[in-house]
Amino acid sequence: MGRVTVRVPTPLRSLTEGRAEVAFDGATTVGAVVQGLARQYPPLARHLVTSDGHLRGSVTVYLNDEDIRYLGKEATPVADGDVVAIVPAIAGGSTSEPSAGHGRPADAIADGGPAFSRDELRRYSRHLLLPEVGIAGQKKLRRSKVLLVGAGGLGAPAALYLAAAGVGEIGLVDFDAVDLSNLQRQVLYTTPDVGRPKLEAAKARLEALNPGVSVRVHPERLTSDNAIEVLRPYDIVLDGTDNFPTRYLLNDAAVLLGKPDVYGSIYRFEGQVSVFDARHGPCYRCLYPEPPPADLVPSCAEAGVLGVLPGLVGVLQATEAVKLLLGQGTSLVGRLLLFDALELSFRELKLRKNPHCVLCSAEATQKGLIDYPAFCGVPPAGAESGDASVPSVEPEALAKELRSDDPPLLIDVREPEEWAIAHLPEAVLIPRRELPERVDEVTRARALVLYCTSGSRSAHAARLLLDLGFTQVRNLKGGIHAWADRVDPDLPQY
Ligand SMILES: [Zn+2]
Repeated sequence: MGRVTVRVPTPLRSLTEGRAEVAFDGATTVGAVVQGLARQYPPLARHLVTSDGHLRGSVTVYLNDEDIRYLGKEATPVADGDVVAIVPAIAGGSTSEPSAGHGRPADAIADGGPAFSRDELRRYSRHLLLPEVGIAGQKKLRRSKVLLVGAGGLGAPAALYLAAAGVGEIGLVDFDAVDLSNLQRQVLYTTPDVGRPKLEAAKARLEALNPGVSVRVHPERLTSDNAIEVLRPYDIVLDGTDNFPTRYLLNDAAVLLGKPDVYGSIYRFEGQVSVFDARHGPCYRCLYPEPPPADLVPSCAEAGVLGVLPGLVGVLQATEAVKLLLGQGTSLVGRLLLFDALELSFRELKLRKNPHCVLCSAEATQKGLIDYPAFCGVPPAGAESGDASVPSVEPEALAKELRSDDPPLLIDVREPEEWAIAHLPEAVLIPRRELPERVDEVTRARALVLYCTSGSRSAHAARLLLDLGFTQVRNLKGGIHAWADRVDPDLPQY
């Protein structure tokens, strides 16, 4: 005996005067709690119980996260502090009577620009039916501007949903062309788009989806020189980047301009989502004051990623952006959502504003944008990847040496999965991460040539061998990609 809380699901809240939780004192069983709720809110009764007083089969009741059908059914005893949750079957519509419009702010009907056309009213009808959106909310979306930095795995699904939702202006920053390997997850693009600039294909697709949306393209790399100017016109920025220099740059520019940064990132089967808004909570630097060492950061190209994962994370980012624009719900400000696709689990961590954050705290020392490639320890954009101090060999020259009487030994430092797709004949596989333990397997008597996908990982591996005293070590410039382009076009590219 004691106080029990009942959680009322959204579809039934219009029958409980909008209340999400109702407390009961003195009930001894789950059945008594449900009966009590039905007595307190008579219109709710027929949704919960049949005419003979039993729980409907279309309603599942949980006691503290356990289904009561596997406890003592309606006779399951309740104790002080217990939570009873009602979970009705839902199928996209609403099981309740039309809402009387609770939750709609009094000024919601205030005008926000021209009236919607008949087609627009029909297009957005499922939004207009929600008291949390309505005509006023839909007009807010129409007046909004969202910048997506990166039109890849995260940006693609986010852009589609933001355009469908009627966000008035969508800005896209990207400078890549569509590659065949993008199509496994970047659902904004189709097979005939391969080779086209991403932004050209994206603009056409988004405007076809919703002609009412204006798509502004920024076909350039975001840099310290242009970031403030590019971000300034937008209400919200959405982080769909895949590298640390751009991620810090975007965070810093958003903090300096006082704009929310909807953050998402992915790795293999795991994702992170948050909203950084230094005016109300922490920024990305509060979470990670500094980036990981550049040579420990695998890119998606190296690490692989489950195709649906960025879809999910990008859609969560779009959800947060729409909520912020509408001013509805509770945002992820101050919370980090972790998603694990293999476990299908969500975890949430509390994020605090770092009182010593160099950017957003009271004692901030950074007042402007900085040199982000240098901060993250990576070569500047457009520079040769890899370690310049490592001797290298061009693919054509290596091909000639391999045909000679004294060919060098080839070491492939990629992962076994990559080796299985394609590798050079006569090469041996020693993944970079295993190299420190397996260095005894590497002969010092022969000239060595290391290779990876594009020459970056193998440059780090070559540096390691040189530091260990190996003398005849070179790196294949441009990696297996350059080899396939210039020496062996039959080699599959990935
Ligand atoms: Zn901060």
